[in-house]
Amino acid sequence: MTASIIDGKAFALGLRERVAQQVASFRAAAGRAPGLAVVLVGEDPASAVYVRNKHKATIGAGMESFEHKLPADTSQADLIALVDKLNADLAVDGILVQLPLPGHIDERAVTTRIDPDKDVDGFHPVNAGRLATGLYGFVPCTPLGCLMLLKDQLGDLAGLDAVVIGRSNIVGKPLAQLLLMENATVTIAHSKTHDLPAVCRRGALVFAAVGQPEMVRRDWVKPDATIIDVGINRVSAENGKTKIVGDVAFAEVAEVAGAITPVPGGVGPMTIACLMLNTLKAACAQNGLPQPAIPNP
Ligand code: NAP
Repeated sequence: MTASIIDGKAFALGLRERVAQQVASFRAAAGRAPGLAVVLVGEDPASAVYVRNKHKATIGAGMESFEHKLPADTSQADLIALVDKLNADLAVDGILVQLPLPGHIDERAVTTRIDPDKDVDGFHPVNAGRLATGLYGFVPCTPLGCLMLLKDQLGDLAGLDAVVIGRSNIVGKPLAQLLLMENATVTIAHSKTHDLPAVCRRGALVFAAVGQPEMVRRDWVKPDATIIDVGINRVSAENGKTKIVGDVAFAEVAEVAGAITPVPGGVGPMTIACLMLNTLKAACAQNGLPQPAIPNP
């Protein structure tokens, strides 16, 4: 293996510690802890794990965690009424509604109901618009984490060719916007892209946010490129159990890349750390306090 491994777990731990230190300053100034409300509808097991991890991280950072677990048959009207209540609650600085929601609920109707100033997931069109117009509002946590890791690894990204595979509203598009703001030259690839391997080979930076296990192969990668693997895919393991793999064939790509994030232990831990950061930022903004001294990437 030639690539250096980008240790997202260690970086995320450091970020969470810095957030926790500044939460302590916030508490001293505001007389209360920042509060994050997380809403889970139904019993999707993966969502339940994510919500549990977010709760633990929130408490670990010294913040208040408000969990709202609702049954799968909760109506859209009741969910929106809860969002309205959280929007008005002064103890709640950040609101996150765990996706996916059950099929009878229109996700967009719910995410657009969240007060954009409490939208710590960064999914509200107001925050998407801020990012698209070159402002930092709340940036979705996974792309923010990718960029922080990348900048820690490489520093200045100006002029570098970046290929983002995937154009979802929560990962691919905001990631491309962030890279543009860093003056990278950005290509966004997707399922209709012609000759994806050739497009990928142009990238000094390659981001895989696709949801296809180990899709990016060794011969898709330019020697010495930096590879950020966002994918989380559960696949069968040889021992009959399951394991998590990314969207990049790690072992073979690591033979040619300059640096690569592992899965697990790369981008994943950064997502929760950035959620903590966004919640602290929301709390500071809503209390008229200076923004935390942890800059955007
Ligand atoms: P998504 O909404 O399903 O979007 C997937 C994107 O990949 C789409 O733009 C799709 O193209 C593109 N795509 C699908 N198959 C393709 C193919 N064969 N060739 C080229 N492009 C293809 O997924 P997402 O929410 O962005 O998530 C992507 C991955 O990241 C998933 O594995 C997810 O689990 C993971 N994820 C990880 C974290 C984390 O914390 N690490 C957070 C969020 C997501 P079209 O637009 O043309 O359909």
